[in-house]
Amino acid sequence: MNAAGLKKGLKATGRRVTRTRQAVLGLLERTPQPLSATEIFEQLQKENVAIDLVTVYRTVHVLKELGLVAQIELHHEGQARYEIKEGREHHHHIQCQMCGAIVDLLLCPLKKITKLIESQTKFVVDDHTLEFTGLCPRCQ
Ligand SMILES: [Zn+2]
Ligand SMILES: [Zn+2]
Ligand SMILES: [Zn+2]
Repeated sequence: MNAAGLKKGLKATGRRVTRTRQAVLGLLERTPQPLSATEIFEQLQKENVAIDLVTVYRTVHVLKELGLVAQIELHHEGQARYEIKEGREHHHHIQCQMCGAIVDLLLCPLKKITKLIESQTKFVVDDHTLEFTGLCPRCQ
C-alpha cells in the first residue's frame, strides 16, 4: 500500500486523503505488529501528529471500509487492533502472555477443515478465528 493507492481508494468512495489518514496508514505500514487505537494515538502524538483518540477510531474505521486495514480481536484483550491488510495474505497471530507481543503466523491451516464444515453444514463459510498464545523468546 502506498500513498497513490490510498488516494485511489478514498477517491473511489468520495473521500479525501487527509494527513490524518496518511499518518495512520503510514504508522500501520511500518509497525510489524497490530496496534490498538490507543497505541496508534500515543505513537502519533510522539511523532507530533495533531490527532485525538476519536479521530483515530474514525480513521481506522474508514481505512477498514476501504479494505486497506484489517481489524483483529484477540480474545484475551478487550480491544480491537488494526494492521495493514491490502496486499497481504490471510493469516493468524500468536501473542505473548507476559509482554503482549504479537507475531504474524504467515499460514492458515484451516482450508481443508473449512471445506469439510461447508459440506457438513451446507453453510458458506466466510470467516474464522484462530489464535495462539504463549511465551515469546524474551519472556521464557
Ligand atoms: Zn513476551
Ligand atoms: Zn497480522
Ligand atoms: Zn485462517
